Amino acid sequence: MLGPPGAGKGTQAERFAKARDIPRISTGDILRDAVHAKTDIGLRAKAIMDRGELVGDDVMIGIVNERLGRNDAVNGFVLDGFPRTVAQASALDGIMSKRDPLIVVDIVVPEDELVRRLGTRSICRLCGTGASVGSTVGAACAKCGGPLVQRADDNQAIVIERLKVYHRQSEPLVEYYRIRPTFRSIDGAQSPDRVAADLAAAIEAAGRGAVGVRG
Ligand code: AMP
Repeated sequence: MLGPPGAGKGTQAERFAKARDIPRISTGDILRDAVHAKTDIGLRAKAIMDRGELVGDDVMIGIVNERLGRNDAVNGFVLDGFPRTVAQASALDGIMSKRDPLIVVDIVVPEDELVRRLGTRSICRLCGTGASVGSTVGAACAKCGGPLVQRADDNQAIVIERLKVYHRQSEPLVEYYRIRPTFRSIDGAQSPDRVAADLAAAIEAAGRGAVGVRG
């Protein structure tokens, strides 16, 4: 799933993965868990994430390669937040070479709407569940009752940096994938229900486009 920060990738990936009973694999969540657990990767990633920059390709490709090899991903998965660079996309093509073709959906949202959303979203400090845009910081998490806080990298200065990083390093992925019959683009500036419906339809159509294609 492609799209800038705040496009709704997490929300939509979660919904779609649940509906299809496949795992949602969010590299941002994996890194935040590693930071929380103070693992080697977590300790190295924290400062990079706090600046709104990208963690190195080798580390990210290693994480995803390992995760996609687990049993729960054999029948499919939703990747949220990966790839974010052309080098990651090219490595992913290698990882996927003997599997069904990737379906790539780009969620498009205007920049001013992204800034608004990122400034008003929150996350549970205890379990890390993302709350819907506009939910009050300080309210209780619907899943575990923990306090909702602003994500450290959602403060305004970092948001601007993350959007710059997106345009510079991740937007070229749209060109990388656009020529494939399994690429679709959807309007993410609609209600979550409409985006979910468009996403399901796009994946269905892209799946038909995938017949006979590998990689
Ligand atoms: P996200 O939750 O997807 O917005 O990711 C939060 C942060 O984790 C990003 O701003 C990056 O610092 C880091 N990150 C997540 N996924 C990747 C990736 N595929 N490549 C590099 N850094 C990543």
